[in-house]
Amino acid sequence: MVTADPSPEFAEAAKALQGLGLVEVQPQTYVLCANPKDRDFPPRNRHCRGRVYVDRVLDEGGHEYRCPECERPVFPSRGKQRHPELRTRVSRPGVHAFVNARLMNLGVNVKQLADGVFKVDLDGMGVVVCIADHCADERYLTREWAARTPTCYIVVNPKDLAERFLKEDWLTAVPLAGIAAGEVDIEETVRQVSEAGPPAAMLTASIPVYTKGARPIVAQPVTPSQPGRRFVVEVGPTEVRVEGETVIAPQAGPRLEIFRALWERFLADCAEGCTVDEFRPFELDDLAGELEARVGKEFADIETVRRTVNRMQTDIEKAVKQRLGMAIDRDDIIQTVRRTGHGKGPNGYRINPSTVAIRPYQADLR
Ligand SMILES: [Zn+2]
Repeated sequence: MVTADPSPEFAEAAKALQGLGLVEVQPQTYVLCANPKDRDFPPRNRHCRGRVYVDRVLDEGGHEYRCPECERPVFPSRGKQRHPELRTRVSRPGVHAFVNARLMNLGVNVKQLADGVFKVDLDGMGVVVCIADHCADERYLTREWAARTPTCYIVVNPKDLAERFLKEDWLTAVPLAGIAAGEVDIEETVRQVSEAGPPAAMLTASIPVYTKGARPIVAQPVTPSQPGRRFVVEVGPTEVRVEGETVIAPQAGPRLEIFRALWERFLADCAEGCTVDEFRPFELDDLAGELEARVGKEFADIETVRRTVNRMQTDIEKAVKQRLGMAIDRDDIIQTVRRTGHGKGPNGYRINPSTVAIRPYQADLR
């Protein structure tokens, strides 16, 4: 979880949870690419929303800090306002140790059955305590299990607890945050589950009692040669979309111009009736020259252009996988073309003629 400009109360709470070993807290600092309070305002794009983190070890004098959105070099220490941010992450081992220690308070044997699953030897059948979010063994997460064995579920992520947990009165689920804050007495809860025993009525169907959030939409990678893989690309005046999803945003000046240069050549080759092999790549120095003409010299050195294209390839791949759940290869939209024969490394880029399908910009459909 990332919290920008954390309030003192939030920082305090995070520190308390860190003290219990439940979360790892990492403070960070960033500057904004475009901030009216900064000395370098306005940059070329006064609306750029890029954040540049200053905690990394980069050479400011060597222009290594770059805005991730517009690629311009940024100098955080030259009169730029700094913003604090807190990154918090639940510590899995910390949570397990915390729960284990609390169960030990009961003064009976506590045994770990699986990762995040504990057996507490209270009178009778005993009680199983299952940290639902961390339990890898689905068996403990079925209704069938919970109906047969007195089980107390602990839920780490309180978001949507009500929707994600099966709604049946006899099931016991408590939020970890409540235990940490002292609102839930976990020892007492476990004792009560033990005394109640297994519920009398049960069905035989095996239904999961807990779903760990939305099903992952990231598709399995397919073999690059999968036939028929195809992506509809729209290039508008200020953005590029793949399958209707914006992959190059309006504020991304140099990215958009690089894409446009590749796109124009692609369209020209389409108009010529070229076969797939005949589509011309842009050599890196030509592309740099093209960019210099379009947006100016500061974006146009060869190393910067190469890095920009590489990041675009990565970001497009990520966006299509994560937001659309489609299988895509890094080269499917912008393809790296290597010189055959005695070439060294990549020497050009083109819009991939095997996988890209053109669609006019559908501005009105949004
Ligand atoms: Zn920027």
